[in-house]
Amino acid sequence: MDRPKTETLSGNQGLRIEEPLIFEQDAPGRCGVDLPETDLADNRLGGVERQDPVGLPGLSEPQVVRHFTRLSQKNYGIDSGFYPLGSCTMKHNPRLNEKMARLQGLGDLHPLQPESTVQGALEMIDTLAHWLKELTGMPAVAMSPAAGAHGELCGIMAIRAALEDRGDPRSRVLVPESAHGTNPATAAACGYSIDSIPADDRGRVDLEAFKSMLGDDVAAIMLTNPNTCGLFENDIIEIADAVHDAGAFFYCDGANFNAIVGRVRPGDLGVDCMHLNLHKTFSTPHGGGGPGSGPTVLSEPLAPFAPLPFVVHGKNGFHLVETIDDPIGGSAKSFGRMKGFHGQMGMFIRSLAYILSHGADGLRQVSGDAVLNANYLLAELSDDLTASFPGPCMHEALFDDRFLKGTGVSTLDFAKAMIDEGFHPMTMYFPLVVSGALLMEPTETESKDALDQYIAVVKGLAAKAKSGNDGPFHEAPVLTPRQRLDETAAARNPVLRWTPPVEEAAE
Ligand SMILES: *Cc1c(COP(=O)(O)O)cnc(C)c1O
Repeated sequence: MDRPKTETLSGNQGLRIEEPLIFEQDAPGRCGVDLPETDLADNRLGGVERQDPVGLPGLSEPQVVRHFTRLSQKNYGIDSGFYPLGSCTMKHNPRLNEKMARLQGLGDLHPLQPESTVQGALEMIDTLAHWLKELTGMPAVAMSPAAGAHGELCGIMAIRAALEDRGDPRSRVLVPESAHGTNPATAAACGYSIDSIPADDRGRVDLEAFKSMLGDDVAAIMLTNPNTCGLFENDIIEIADAVHDAGAFFYCDGANFNAIVGRVRPGDLGVDCMHLNLHKTFSTPHGGGGPGSGPTVLSEPLAPFAPLPFVVHGKNGFHLVETIDDPIGGSAKSFGRMKGFHGQMGMFIRSLAYILSHGADGLRQVSGDAVLNANYLLAELSDDLTASFPGPCMHEALFDDRFLKGTGVSTLDFAKAMIDEGFHPMTMYFPLVVSGALLMEPTETESKDALDQYIAVVKGLAAKAKSGNDGPFHEAPVLTPRQRLDETAAARNPVLRWTPPVEEAAE
């Protein structure tokens, strides 16, 4: 029985405060800080002075503090509870990483400081690069890509440069239909046409179909392993061999490296390049648009084309190679620069802290625990939901909407009902290869207790949906500050700027 909201005098619901937008709280002239009068305006702006108000709301310091504290309490995050979206969106970030990133000597660095004053920082980038090469079994790594998709761009640009260098430009890139949307987008951005490789009934690449698509116009395959169905592509070595026999390169989307780190080295599988989402495998806070970090490992044939800049360890310490003709480590074949400065330094520090605090054995346990937790969900929920593919799975357990058939409840309704139960929903409707997908990634840090609570709720909701009383599902969530929103309208017509209400014109 869903509890209806109780009317209150204030509009507040217990400790949940209903308050206007910060702009609606504006009291002109109110201010949280005392700013000294300045006589610089004329000089600095050459006599140009702003006439109209800046548009910032006037509030006192306690108002600002309360407003943002309340907003933070309305948000559901990894620090508030179980988050079945998994590493793709957020996993637990050990606080040690944060402490390291805030050390004064690191947090206050500036990328334009003289090289002699940032030797320690360059050494850290070099040490992280070493670990990434070691863990992937690859000879080179480009550190500058700023996220997974940027790493894909790095890899495909290196492949294109290598093919052009050997006078063999090619036109097609093969991408499995289960791939993350960034894969075909990247290849298209680099000028390639995309051919979609069908999946077989095991949720993996259809090997025969794939082989028949290869030809001397194929530049690369972009394969995710483990794939987005949470399954290991177990024909990967045969795939790599076929790709190489066709003179093409093997791009592996390594966003899900958290499932295999410390156990499988992609270099041993025949991979030519692969981005690592430091923000997925090696923690570091992300989500909501950033920051990410997507170092991209490269094989011997691709390494000469790596982007600038990169760190070399020369006779006189660590050196950042920033031009193709740098006397210490220039690389004439580099395809150039992908972003300003050296990469996401704050993410590098956090990832290195994560790697060093776990050690090789700890990282191996991370992937083991991530896979164990996902398989626990798969095993416990398979009788209540419909598992899309038989287990075992890797880091993610994939279910689909067949268990909801005839109930009138959709995947969306089911996910919304989880919010009323105090849980963040799982990933919905992705991957696209199964209908009405419900994808769950618990990650390595969740305890059995936390998983059991979640399992009990999912089982309970499944039973409720099947009982024939679908009403509450269509309304859900009803216990939140805002209820079912029109997400399509929100996406199509976002209101990104608050405008003061227009005074009704007198007729
Ligand atoms: C997250 C993800 C990406 C993209 O990474 P971003 O850092 O979000 O750009 C690409 N492929 C897969 C499989 C992913 O999970």
